[in-house]
Amino acid sequence: MLVPASLIVFALGASIGSFINVVVYRLPAGLSVVYPPSRCPRCLNELKAYDNVPVLGWLWLKGRCRYCKSKISMRYPVVETITGLLFLLIFWVFQYSPQTIGYWIFCSWLLALSLIDFDTMTLPNPLTKSGLMLGVLFQTVLGFMQSTSFINHLIGAIVGAVVGIWLFDAISFIGSIIFQKEAMGGGDAKLAAMMGAWLGWRHLLLAVFISCIVGVVAGGSGAVLERRKWGKKMPFGPCLALGSLITLLGGEMIISSYLRLFP
Ligand SMILES: [Zn+2]
Repeated sequence: MLVPASLIVFALGASIGSFINVVVYRLPAGLSVVYPPSRCPRCLNELKAYDNVPVLGWLWLKGRCRYCKSKISMRYPVVETITGLLFLLIFWVFQYSPQTIGYWIFCSWLLALSLIDFDTMTLPNPLTKSGLMLGVLFQTVLGFMQSTSFINHLIGAIVGAVVGIWLFDAISFIGSIIFQKEAMGGGDAKLAAMMGAWLGWRHLLLAVFISCIVGVVAGGSGAVLERRKWGKKMPFGPCLALGSLITLLGGEMIISSYLRLFP
């Protein structure tokens, strides 16, 4: 049962990944994400349906456009594969549950935001805002389905979002004292609010803590590898996304083993 289901989940994830590629490319440029259909950016020929199949399309075209033979970035199949694997991981952990569908959505938003932050150093408002709304909606639906008080879930989501914003105000404030310049972008606070809605305030704190570790490690190794100055601007969105993902998959385990360490 698990093997065919896993294949279907991977295919679904890869297809969503294909759409994430479109969103990441078009949203920051202010273009429509639904029209026109996918086409080669150079010769503008529309992609055939069978060339548009996630991962496989790129493979059988050997990474080149069918018409003008210009190179198609490796990034497209890589993002599709990563999305497929993320969907699979969430499915394995949460099985057949409403959480699985919810976290597929959450991770798709996180991945799109991370890639846009890498490319443009911004986190677009339409994405962080819709992500926040979906997080609140998810908690409310979850409350209804688990027949616990849905009001508690709704309040939990809102408290998480508010804590996210406060936390970032505090981090920005401390960062501006240490670095003597603006340390965090406004988009990061909105992303933290979105994470708070999805994760709740307890897991949000853990996620931000992990994100900071990821940020320090990535910033440090980047500084060493590229021999650039320590403290150079780098996108923090991907660190927050990774922190969220680790918390999502292993948060309870991390918190309980931490509590066992210091009884
Ligand atoms: Zn072409």
